[in-house]
Amino acid sequence: MLDVARTRIISDKYKQSIVGDLDACLRALDPSGRDISDIGATYEAELARWFDMPHALAVSSGGAALTTAFATLGVGPGDEVVLPPSCPLCTVYPIIQLGATPVFCDTESDGFGLDAAALAAVITARTRAIVEVPMWGYPTRLGALRDAAHRHGIPLVLDLAHAHGSKLDGLHLAAYGDVSCYSTHERKPLATGEGGFMLFRDAETARRARAFTRFGELDGRTFGINHKLSPVQASLGLHRLGHLAEQIARRRANASFITERLTDAAIHPLAPLPGAEPNYYFLLLALPEAESRSVIDQLDRSGVPSDIKRYGCKPLYEFAQCAEYRRDCPQADRMLRTVTTVPVHPGLTQDDLDHIVASIRACRP
Ligand SMILES: *Cc1c(COP(=O)(O)O)cnc(C)c1O
Repeated sequence: MLDVARTRIISDKYKQSIVGDLDACLRALDPSGRDISDIGATYEAELARWFDMPHALAVSSGGAALTTAFATLGVGPGDEVVLPPSCPLCTVYPIIQLGATPVFCDTESDGFGLDAAALAAVITARTRAIVEVPMWGYPTRLGALRDAAHRHGIPLVLDLAHAHGSKLDGLHLAAYGDVSCYSTHERKPLATGEGGFMLFRDAETARRARAFTRFGELDGRTFGINHKLSPVQASLGLHRLGHLAEQIARRRANASFITERLTDAAIHPLAPLPGAEPNYYFLLLALPEAESRSVIDQLDRSGVPSDIKRYGCKPLYEFAQCAEYRRDCPQADRMLRTVTTVPVHPGLTQDDLDHIVASIRACRP
């Protein structure tokens, strides 16, 4: 039986030791007045290696990564960018900021990937990019999406702010995108406080993106703004990247622990797609539509927080800032109303995991 008197709130964020990590960074920086701008280059080389991609660029935030991606692809006034309405406001604002029009496209019925038929219907001669956002780290059908985008001659931008280390058919998700954007905000699986990075397959796209983040290399011929990552954060990222594989393994083990204990329960985790290895940024539960609010509230009261509740997730066109771009996307709407997130980060104790299992099993849908 669940101990309801216990009102402890399980943290939805992995809190790493900033003191220990900064100490390690300072030791890395200290030797003999090393030029700290080197750290950025080392961090980028390690990111490229870790994600198995030829080119990496560290930037000041996930939002900066998206702005840089769109600007590099030439997105501007009069252009259209296709994206799912189930992603955060952070993904759509950079499109609006560049004067382009966000075009919402419905998602599949079993996940947050763009639906192929819906995509074919929204592409026009003005579509300059297609954006996929594998929410909470769950891989979507990226191979088919990339092929569809390329058949139309349109680049695929991946917002992988949740998906560090998620794989599909053995490949990091970035392998499927033309430009991949990550955030290292403090709530993300790799955290530098604020920060982000981008991964590219094509050297020329990477070069243009780099120039954009450095005022166009200040040569006065190409436009740019400052989206560089500070060397101090690069140092923290470099240090923490060394632990990321082990932390994702812990997330996967925590997700399996919970999943295995819910096989005979009323509420089950959402099944990842075949070939998908989520990083388990969060574990998603599939909820019955009519009772999903009540289940989320019951879990919240027993100290298990939900990202859906925290951010009031709903299709982006329901927010005032995006109302003018409204296009009803019933499947995305339904997906957002029938899932919730459960923390499985590496900071959870065995006691936390037992409490999460007991809380889910105690829910009366
Ligand atoms: C966090 C997030 C962003 C924005 O990243 P910042 O580093 O906070 O600018 C963009 N897209 C998604 C999907 C995110 O979760």
